[in-house]
Amino acid sequence: MPPIITYRCGVCKREYPGHEEAVRCEESHLAAVSVVVKNHGIHEYPYSVAVTFSNGETREYVADHMR
Ligand SMILES: [Zn+2]
Repeated sequence: MPPIITYRCGVCKREYPGHEEAVRCEESHLAAVSVVVKNHGIHEYPYSVAVTFSNGETREYVADHMR
């Protein structure tokens, strides 16, 4: 019985039948270049941060419990 070979993206864990597809998936994911705290509130951890990615774009993320 022949084995079924798949390739898994090391970042998102999605599986592909071809090695090149998995490599393309890995290379499509952006790296976080910097994180800046936007709002801290009274808690130990900040409730929102701005993340700048390797493509130069910045996105703001808010903690789940503050939405
Ligand atoms: Zn991926």
